[in-house]
Amino acid sequence: MPELKNCRRCKRIFMYAIGPQICEACKKLEEEEFERVRQFLKEFPGATIQEVSKETNVSTQLIYRFLKEGRIEVADNSPIALQCESCGVRINSGRFCVNCSKRIANEMINAGRSLKESLKDYDEKENEGGLRYLHGVRKDESIRRDFKRK
Ligand SMILES: [Zn+2]
Ligand SMILES: [Zn+2]
Repeated sequence: MPELKNCRRCKRIFMYAIGPQICEACKKLEEEEFERVRQFLKEFPGATIQEVSKETNVSTQLIYRFLKEGRIEVADNSPIALQCESCGVRINSGRFCVNCSKRIANEMINAGRSLKESLKDYDEKENEGGLRYLHGVRKDESIRRDFKRK
């Protein structure tokens, strides 16, 4: 039965009936993006999600969803996969393998800039990165203190 829902892509309210929870405008956009991904994979079966994303300008999350929804077909012997963007090793999450992220983190400290942003996702997932984590906790506590004072 149709009901009002928020489009999960643009957050606008729309009349939802069936299928993915997105509005008509976004559905159209997604179809176009899906078509780009499909065409690309036809030419380059076994490409990684990152390669596909880079070449088609479609976000990796959306490609994951296409995969999860079974809309993208990949060859059995060359499944679409995440790859370390630095050395090409297979990884399960993030953008770099453990070795490379450590190396890059070191280089970052030495260089003192640039890659920080691209590593942010990874750091947040890992929680190992001592300084950043501690800093986050400290910030958190000071916010709480401020809150109490008011
Ligand atoms: Zn929408
Ligand atoms: Zn690597």
